[in-house]
Amino acid sequence: MARDMADGYKLNLWERLSGAPHPAKSFGASFWYETAPEAPVTETLVGEAKAEVAVVGGGYLGLSAALHLAEAGVDVALLEADEAGFGASGRNAGFVVPNLLTGLDPKLMREALGTERGDLLCRTLGEGGDLIFDLIRRHNIDCEGRQSGWIQPLHTPAKQEWLEDRVEQWRALGRPVEALSADQANQETGATSYHGAFLDPTGGHVNPLGLVRGYAKAAIEQGARIYTSSRVQSMERAEDGDRKGWRLKTDKGTLFASKVLLTTNATGDGLAPAAENTQYPITLFQVATEPLDPELRKSVLPNDRSSADTRKDLIAFRWTWDNRLVTGGLLASPFGASELGRTHHLDRLQTLLPQLPPLKLDYAWQGRLAAARDFMPRLMSLGPEAYSAITCNGRGMAMTTAMGKAFARYLTGGSNEELPVPITDPNPIPLPSLASLAFSVWLPFNRWIDARDLKAK
Ligand SMILES: Cc1cc2nc3c(=O)[nH]c(=O)nc-3n(C[C@H](O)[C@H](O)[C@H](O)COP(=O)(O)OP(=O)(O)OC[C@H]3O[C@@H](n4cnc5c(N)ncnc54)[C@H](O)[C@@H]3O)c2cc1C
Repeated sequence: MARDMADGYKLNLWERLSGAPHPAKSFGASFWYETAPEAPVTETLVGEAKAEVAVVGGGYLGLSAALHLAEAGVDVALLEADEAGFGASGRNAGFVVPNLLTGLDPKLMREALGTERGDLLCRTLGEGGDLIFDLIRRHNIDCEGRQSGWIQPLHTPAKQEWLEDRVEQWRALGRPVEALSADQANQETGATSYHGAFLDPTGGHVNPLGLVRGYAKAAIEQGARIYTSSRVQSMERAEDGDRKGWRLKTDKGTLFASKVLLTTNATGDGLAPAAENTQYPITLFQVATEPLDPELRKSVLPNDRSSADTRKDLIAFRWTWDNRLVTGGLLASPFGASELGRTHHLDRLQTLLPQLPPLKLDYAWQGRLAAARDFMPRLMSLGPEAYSAITCNGRGMAMTTAMGKAFARYLTGGSNEELPVPITDPNPIPLPSLASLAFSVWLPFNRWIDARDLKAK
């Protein structure tokens, strides 16, 4: 009760200050929520339960781990505070992007992790798009999945050298990526101002909530137990007969498990503070327009790819099956975010694509993601056989799905060396809760860099 009151107070304070609904409340406001197939039937944890592996968090990472563990015959139970996809996984833009953020390419990964590990991380992620669409096919997931490719157009000609280098690096790892000319980039997007593009044909787009619900259904079918409305309030080392393990407590039950994997992304609320504090929480806004004239699809993204350009404050857009455009991104300030979020991202799209009619929106929502200061995935040790995986960093669908699979392999006897990043102790950053303030400063600065680069071309 005291916790509910404290949470309610925090939500209200946030809303008063920002004039926007708290991210926790906008889950039901998304286009995906309106159109995704129903979630599978699940139960809340009540009383005592046992499992070999407990997974905490029902986003792509936790559900991919649970699904792959169940497929390997492991007795796995997943505890989700709300419902599958309630975090970033049910609210994102649905872009399947099989690479890391701009700049974090194979060369840098080798420098950061050594040749073998760096290549393993890039290969794992590069295959992440194929993995998602393979899961969609294998488990018959109804999420409007289209493996139509992901494109990253260049907003300035100064990026051309970078493009060639990037393509070369990923091709050396066997990825079928391509460099597009300025004409091709503009033809692919419908813009007139781009100077080339990076294309990964194994990317694409999905209804993200449909996908995460599909993972949940598939995991259940493979034998995983999924408990929803079951927020883990504490975890402690415990014994059950001669078995050593962990006891996870929710408000109505306890789960004893030999191994624990936390996948709570930006929303753990203090369950494992050292691990959570390795991350900056970032709020992103998304909007979906009203349905547009289908004729526009002939000039705007005619190959139905998802597009996110090279600006630091990137412009990203994609179609939905019913001819809406979905776009969004960061805002400089959470203050007045509701109103700004509605107009800012549509205005930018309208400027980029002048053939569009005045855009009106039907849906606006937001979500929180977690990013490490080096934008690298983190696999962390929390004690004997207890781990926290936070791998989001913004381009998360391919990464989290692939990491869930890799970690499931680790938990079934794989070695640390086979993981795409090593398991380390948490390395918390000071004052992560002030991060949103830092981003308020950082974003205008990045916009200034974008504007300067555009002028310099
Ligand atoms: C608005 C937005 C747009 C984005 N767009 C894209 C995109 O287009 N493409 C892309 O690749 N990535 C995108 N991302 C990033 C992507 O959504 C994330 O990387 C990914 O969903 C993270 O998955 P996850 O499983 O790690 O975490 P989450 O999906 O956040 O799941 C964490 C889960 O843990 C649960 N939880 C938290 N605490 C507890 C507890 N104590 N007990 C039990 N459960 C708990 C939460 O309820 C939540 O369901 C976007 C993110 C946002 C916010």
